[in-house]
Amino acid sequence: MRLVLLGPPGAGKGTQAHRLADRYQLTLIATGDIFRSHVAHNTELGQEARQYMDAGELVPDDVVVRMVTGALAEAGRGFILDGFPRTRPQAEALDRVLEDLAAPISAVLVFEVDDETTVKRLAGRRTCKRCQRTYNVEFNPPRQEGVCDVCGGDLGQRTDDEEATVRHRLELYHDVSQALTTFYGQRGLVRVVDADGTQDEVTERAVAALSDLAPAAGS
Ligand code: AMP
Repeated sequence: MRLVLLGPPGAGKGTQAHRLADRYQLTLIATGDIFRSHVAHNTELGQEARQYMDAGELVPDDVVVRMVTGALAEAGRGFILDGFPRTRPQAEALDRVLEDLAAPISAVLVFEVDDETTVKRLAGRRTCKRCQRTYNVEFNPPRQEGVCDVCGGDLGQRTDDEEATVRHRLELYHDVSQALTTFYGQRGLVRVVDADGTQDEVTERAVAALSDLAPAAGS
């Protein structure tokens, strides 16, 4: 199964991406996480991406496409893309890469949630600095404050989760999401998931939306 996840920042997409990747044994390619890891290790790519990320701006298409092309070449036949594509040129570039790999997208899950819910969720979000799992101080707290349940890493707030930056990221999302939904909708790939609910409820809805593809898990 080869999935693209779309949805505004704060729709819980990252959490659902991890859950679906575990469930169907798919390689998770989360562009924001890859960039954050490069920033943390101060690589050349990290230095290039950081200025855009801190401001809530998009990293230039050519930089992202190069990175994703490399990740896809190593991913095997089943994968989930979270955070990519974010623009029409990225979607077109993805098509070309997948055509070369003879590995077309199986479905595009669009997580829908209203903006104010998103702002509230992100203000409380805490992210593990080591494994990138996310928590919410209100809705999904870790067992021990400030510590990741899974790997024991420190939890922190992302600079781009501050409210003004979140609102800017939402505007950017709305600018391009319609174009991407249309792009994939024309091919019948879009499956909408209501992302307003508990994490378990949203996972159930996503799994239901994929039920006709599930037997092909990992293929
Ligand atoms: P995310 O964790 O997906 O919200 O991504 C965090 C930040 O990484 C974004 O605000 C962008 O600066 C950058 N980023 C991640 N994915 C992309 C992408 N596909 N295109 C451009 N910038 C991206």
